Amino acid sequence: TVKGDVHDIGKNIVGVVLACNNFDVVDLGVMVPADRILDEARKQNADVIGLSGLITPSLDEMVNVAREMERQAFSVPLLIGGATTSRVHTAVRIAPGYGREVIHVLDASRAVPVVQKLTSDADGRAAFADEVRAEYAGVRADFARRQAAQNLLTLGDARANRLPFDADAAAITVPERLGLTTLPGIPIADVRLYIDWTPFFSAWEIKGKYPAILDDAATGAEARRLFDDANALLDEMDSRRALTLNAVFGLFPANADGDDVALYADELRTERLASLHTLRQQAAKTPGKPNRALADFVAPAESGVADYAGAFVVTVHGAEKVAREAEAHHDDYRAILVKAVADRLAEALAEWVHTRVRREAWGYAPGEALSPADLIAERFRGIRPAPGYPAQPDHTEKQTIWALLDAERKTGASLTDHLAIHPAASVCGLYFAHPASDYFNVGVLARDQVEDYARRKGLDVAEAERWLAPNLAYERAPAPEAIADA
Ligand code: SAH
Repeated sequence: TVKGDVHDIGKNIVGVVLACNNFDVVDLGVMVPADRILDEARKQNADVIGLSGLITPSLDEMVNVAREMERQAFSVPLLIGGATTSRVHTAVRIAPGYGREVIHVLDASRAVPVVQKLTSDADGRAAFADEVRAEYAGVRADFARRQAAQNLLTLGDARANRLPFDADAAAITVPERLGLTTLPGIPIADVRLYIDWTPFFSAWEIKGKYPAILDDAATGAEARRLFDDANALLDEMDSRRALTLNAVFGLFPANADGDDVALYADELRTERLASLHTLRQQAAKTPGKPNRALADFVAPAESGVADYAGAFVVTVHGAEKVAREAEAHHDDYRAILVKAVADRLAEALAEWVHTRVRREAWGYAPGEALSPADLIAERFRGIRPAPGYPAQPDHTEKQTIWALLDAERKTGASLTDHLAIHPAASVCGLYFAHPASDYFNVGVLARDQVEDYARRKGLDVAEAERWLAPNLAYERAPAPEAIADA
């Protein structure tokens, strides 16, 4: 797993699957800088290098590793995998940096035939490389066509087409409990009912929806075995108190200030605790559809309406320790299982805390009584968008949340240099209560917005571009290192 990233479930599954197929796998762990990957590959005489990552900054780090391989005159194939990676990103951004094979491997089961082809005889490797090269050239041509056809509004025009604020529609409720609430050591038993099991099965590459998946003719038996093992592990973790579930959330007086949201210390609304920065959709919309930004879900300061917003961090400690113990006993299955279960618990904890916020702390839905299935289907009012996700692709907003909630001290969760949350089984986000609030995709951003956003955040434009790289509608100026190399 590349520098700055801590997510390793996918990598570990790929490692086990390759090892089961007689490949000798050297696993370097998580947060591995490019130099260490390449030094180790050279030392071990690796036939193939694989990079994994989950958060979007890892995409840029993979570009960096590929360029380093070129600079250091490597000749082995490079495999790319992980949830946010894609064939398009691999073809458009990573492959051009390295003159040898760069191949996106969608899942663990694909890893085996791909590595087999790459390590077969030279002719087999060359034929496969040609095939992939031709395919990726097509992907790049498609991408260029789509980019040329983009119809983007100026930031000014996009703002003019915002979701207009309507105080009646906003149905604002004054929170029962403003400020921070810390919830340490929440029992697993309180939270496990809220687990959404469908993503658990997809982590193991069993496709289908829970609970129907348990009775699927083809995969039901395996799914049931996994499900039983996961629940037995949850029982064990609960009785041994081996996992610690912590949460902190805060609710604050808030008003939109352009595309930002000001959070205030108190109802006087003069002292700003923090500014949340949001990004606005710039793709031209069909008539009647707004160009949205999260800030539109909060009353603008100039409306004179007092509104509120919140933020949260939840984390599950202990999975890494249990996994290390399992690995020491050569039990790879248990090591992966505990991390997959901890990830599910973290999402369930986010659901559980959000439910309490709606019913009690904010109290805008005191009578809400939704089943776990209704919660998973998001049949409640309000959202909890997460930085690094489509409605706010900028991970640096996590730093604001951490400072605002004193999150490291309150939960023990910290941010890596690329702003992954450590431990990996953690979730953070913002709270908006507007009845019209929903998850959307900011999509591509033009230079005018990136410059405006950088100014609002006090970042260099180049740094803002680095964090927003997957969303840029234009080519960045080459990085200084690239200029030095040329
Ligand atoms: N039941 C799911 C919940 C997690 S996915 C599970 O257990 O995995 C849904 C969460 O991802 C949301 O609550 C929100 O925090 C985040 N999310 C999804 N779409 C988003 C978007 N477009 N922008 C920001 N955050 C988003």
